[in-house]
Amino acid sequence: MDLPIYLDYHSTTPIDVRVLDSMLPFYRSDFGNAASASHAFGKKAHQAVEEARAKVAHLINASEPEEIIFTSGTTESNNFALKGIAAMYQEKGNHIITTAIEHKSVLEVCKFLERDGFQITYLPVNQEGIVSFEELKRAMTPQTILISVMHANNEIGTIQPIVQIGRFASEHNIFFHCDAAQTAGRISIDVQASGIDLLSFSAHKMYGPKGIGALYVRKKDPRVRLEPFIHGGGQERDLRSGTLNVAGIVGFGKAAEIGDQEMESDAVWILHLREKLRQGIQSRLTDTYVHGSLERRLPGNLNMSFAYVEGETLLNELCEEIAVSSGSACASQGPGLSYVLRALGVKEELIHTSIRFGLGRFNTEAEIDYTVKRVTEIVSRLRGHSPIYKKERPARVEKK
Ligand SMILES: *Cc1c(COP(=O)(O)O)cnc(C)c1O
Repeated sequence: MDLPIYLDYHSTTPIDVRVLDSMLPFYRSDFGNAASASHAFGKKAHQAVEEARAKVAHLINASEPEEIIFTSGTTESNNFALKGIAAMYQEKGNHIITTAIEHKSVLEVCKFLERDGFQITYLPVNQEGIVSFEELKRAMTPQTILISVMHANNEIGTIQPIVQIGRFASEHNIFFHCDAAQTAGRISIDVQASGIDLLSFSAHKMYGPKGIGALYVRKKDPRVRLEPFIHGGGQERDLRSGTLNVAGIVGFGKAAEIGDQEMESDAVWILHLREKLRQGIQSRLTDTYVHGSLERRLPGNLNMSFAYVEGETLLNELCEEIAVSSGSACASQGPGLSYVLRALGVKEELIHTSIRFGLGRFNTEAEIDYTVKRVTEIVSRLRGHSPIYKKERPARVEKK
């Protein structure tokens, strides 16, 4: 087993070597521009792009490959979807419904649209991080043009009831956009069965390369029209111009193909490791709190807090050997504590000591055993130095 151990699969994933191998020819001999259809180089690139598009479409059960628009990733796709719908349908209405725990690339776009006169409803979530369908129904107005709800949350892994939301949206002729960065290629998505009109996802969260992603845009029942996002040479159905990232797209296609074939077996393995980690820690340490829902959760997510330790010290010591992330202010770069954990009603001192473990395809039993051991050692030692712990938990201190 090598150190450091990577347990931050929600942030990005290592590239699968099969994906990398599929890409390399397109950096070497097959470097053509997919839009230069007059010669063999261009034709080869074009053909590779269209094969990849079909694989990506298949992953989410899109009815046609043309419904896939390649972008640079989910941030761009979310911007594209929300701004594109807002611009195209502003005559129809100015109200958008989303949730308080979306990724910043949805929330910040919503703030931007508010300055443009749009009204946004940010639905609250319950203690487990699940949006209330009843609240969503109540939030709808005749002005509502779009509902944007993520499939699974990137901090707590909670999976939203998107089939129910999608059906409701289509019954009321409201578009439904879903941020699937955490789920595409990891758990099954069916845009047709779920009534999804727009879906954002990234290759690098599913063992593909960084800087490439997609926006699925439904073509019929209903046809979604979008304002073009990047104007220029007319690539991607004139919606997103610019020379295509051929190698990235080929890698994305390969990652989608592997995801299609292996996501079920991956999920079984990853869930086994996640439960080993959770039970291993919780059987050795008291006063731990798992955030989110254990039932409706991504297999690879474990987000938990450790009472009676100093959050920053815990994270720093852990991160010397194990790559994890945290909901505390120091770790999450941006200002303040995790807004996601806040929205769940988690107490501030527990947000400070929250750790997000993100597991994936390449983790091993040995890595999880080592992580359980290190987490237990570090937390026990920090608690041993904590006056509050000694005062409030005297029996446990003496037992040691
Ligand atoms: C990672 C992530 C994004 C952003 O994806 P990029 O590839 O960095 O643009 C958006 N939403 C969610 C839920 C994510 O996990």
